Amino acid sequence: MGKWKDKAYVKKYNRDYHARNREKARAYSQRHRDRDNARRRERYSTDPAYKHRVNLQNSVSYRKHSIARLASSRPLDRTKNRQSCMAWRERNQDKHRAARMVKTALLYGRLERKPCACCGAPARMSIAHHEDYSKPLEVIWLCRVCHKSLHQGRRFLVRYPTLIAVKEVT
Ligand SMILES: [Zn+2]
Ligand SMILES: [Zn+2]
Repeated sequence: MGKWKDKAYVKKYNRDYHARNREKARAYSQRHRDRDNARRRERYSTDPAYKHRVNLQNSVSYRKHSIARLASSRPLDRTKNRQSCMAWRERNQDKHRAARMVKTALLYGRLERKPCACCGAPARMSIAHHEDYSKPLEVIWLCRVCHKSLHQGRRFLVRYPTLIAVKEVT
C-alpha cells in the first residue's frame, strides 16, 4: 500500500476520480445544496475567522491578485518588490515609523493585538490602524476587510466613534 503514501499519486488519483465522476459530484451537490448553503450561512454568522476568510476571498483586490498571479507564470520579482516597498517607505515615513513602533511594542508586550473592533475577527488577524500617525501606539485593531472599508469610506468611525482604543505606554 506504499502508493497511498505518495502525495503525487494520491493527488492524481483524486483528480482522475473527480474527472470520472463529475456528473455524480454535480448531482450530489445539487441534491444537498440547501443543506450546504444553510451550513455555510450558519458558519458565516458564528465563526468570525470563516467570515473573514470569505470576505477576503470575495474582495476585488484578492481576486485581481490571484488572477494576475495565475496569468503570469513568472515568479514574483523580489528586487522590484523591494524597490517599490522602499519607495513607499520614503513617501510615507510617518506611517512606516508608526508601523515599526507598533511592531516593537508588540514584541515587548507593551501593546496587545485585539480582535477586530468592527466585526470581531480573531486578534491574530488584526492589523493596527492609526488615526494619528504622530501617536503611533494609539491604534484601533481591525481585520483587513474592515480596515479597508474604513479607509475607503470611513463609515466605520462614524458608527463607532468611541472605539478608538488607547493604551497608555510609559
Ligand atoms: Zn473586521
Ligand atoms: Zn488604517
